[in-house]
Amino acid sequence: MLGQMMNQPLLISSILVHAERHHGSREIVSRRTEGDIHRYTYRDLARRARQMANALTGLGVETGQRVGTLGWNGYRHLELYYGSSGSGVVLNTLNPRLHPDQLVWIADDAEDQVIFFDLTFLPLVEATAARFRTVRQFVLMADKSAMPQDSKIPGLICYEDLIESAPDQYDWPLFDENTASSLCYTSGTTGNPKGVLYSHRSTVLHAYGSALPDSCGLSARDVVLPVVPMFHVNAWGTPFSAPLVGAKLVFPGPALDGKSLYELFEAEGVTFSAGVPTVWQGLLAHVEDNDLQFSTMNRTVIGGSACPPAMIEAFESKFSVQVLHGWGMTEMSPLGTVCALKPGQEKLPHSEQMAVKSKQGRAIFGVDMKIVDTDGNELPWDGKTTGELMVRGPWIMQQYFNRDDDALVHDAAGLGWFPTGDVAAIDEDGFMQITDRTKDVIKSGGEWISSIDLENIAMGHPAVAMAACIAAHHPKWDERPLLLVMLKPGKAVTRDEVLACFEGRVARWWVPDDVVFVDAIPLGATGKMQKNKLREMFRDHRLPTA
Ligand code: AMP
Repeated sequence: MLGQMMNQPLLISSILVHAERHHGSREIVSRRTEGDIHRYTYRDLARRARQMANALTGLGVETGQRVGTLGWNGYRHLELYYGSSGSGVVLNTLNPRLHPDQLVWIADDAEDQVIFFDLTFLPLVEATAARFRTVRQFVLMADKSAMPQDSKIPGLICYEDLIESAPDQYDWPLFDENTASSLCYTSGTTGNPKGVLYSHRSTVLHAYGSALPDSCGLSARDVVLPVVPMFHVNAWGTPFSAPLVGAKLVFPGPALDGKSLYELFEAEGVTFSAGVPTVWQGLLAHVEDNDLQFSTMNRTVIGGSACPPAMIEAFESKFSVQVLHGWGMTEMSPLGTVCALKPGQEKLPHSEQMAVKSKQGRAIFGVDMKIVDTDGNELPWDGKTTGELMVRGPWIMQQYFNRDDDALVHDAAGLGWFPTGDVAAIDEDGFMQITDRTKDVIKSGGEWISSIDLENIAMGHPAVAMAACIAAHHPKWDERPLLLVMLKPGKAVTRDEVLACFEGRVARWWVPDDVVFVDAIPLGATGKMQKNKLREMFRDHRLPTA
């Protein structure tokens, strides 16, 4: 017998309609590429998104076709989020930090029809425009006054002209909630990037899940500033979760340095933010060096790569900003776990609380997880045993875009699980802790050493800005840990001082065999350390113990 409730599809347009109706005067503030601060409201957003939906039809973009964006976090990009997906067009956010060849490859794979881009990327688009196979039009997301006089891009359209010429009446169409809504590509380190095609249903459910009290805990009283880019897994869903609750949105545009971010946090009364650890380093350095405090910010999600405990400690103890350590993947929309304490844990001694908070956290309802051994057998949740992390749920991918093969591993009951490629332990309370990527694990004499644990310890040293631990070849043990350290400006420290940090904190055989000081650690397009590059650079490194 079926239930007798309304069968209302979960559609992205419904978030915008709700925000306009119930939070119409709530502000959206953007630092623009033009340099100034722009403000308007959810009501204005809804009107311009309707105009964008009409404009896309005018450009000949059909339902299900893809349009690409090369944009920072800003109101025009948000209008495209809703104007395209809401009308049944698929939004393909392109990561401008990728190599141009990769960008062209992605836009071709997605068969993007139109590319919308910010002023910053004019030279990039001019250099690549002729190479895009399917793109028919390019639209510059700028004021008319900022349009170049003699652009090399044929028929370049001004975004504001496009909006102005389109009517603001538009009825958001109703369609199957499983219809594709947006397409993001993973920043894979090997091979071509892989597309993950989200649906309206997965996006709306993820927005609900990420707003829950023990995930991002969003409310109408919040002021949300996503530092994580809208081209990195849809800014972790904040462009959907903030309007869903009626929170004010603040977009930092291209200015992601500590000083600019801090000024915006303070000027706009930001309460909640989200970003990768490398971005927060710049912000922390700015507030520490200038003796500043946050007057309104009370919490931030940090994820994308492991958040060093020293960063959690600094935010919480010095600045009273709660850190919510989160874990996820492009393939997971992205949120899977967030580290919010369980009852009783807030009374634990500080060091024990920190040990919990440095874990990647508990699964949000909707995400099911387990760890398995190499034969696929499920492993115990004892906080010690590690295995590959597998996940399933309504906002987790089952197949990559344009690929026929099933991306899931099926268990004895026939349930499909997505293999994350992460190695993790899960404790009795369900707190998951990532110890490595399967590709980054260091195998010493057949035993695994967690590179993330060693990096976290090294980054606790006050002189260390960033640390990466990779496997170096060893004639006896096969692989041994090699620690690469980037120091903070003006700081000096010896190899032995760094190694002393590990004493008593890990088993003796985990202590790195060598420390090399480097000027920089290569970061990928989403701010993660590129360990494959480091392994390549140090392939011939001779360990003193070898
Ligand atoms: P991406 O899809 O590019 O966002 O990358 C997802 C991968 O980033 C995950 O599979 C993890 O390896 C890594 N990752 C994300 N969040 C964390 C975290 N909090 N700690 C450690 N690794 C993380």
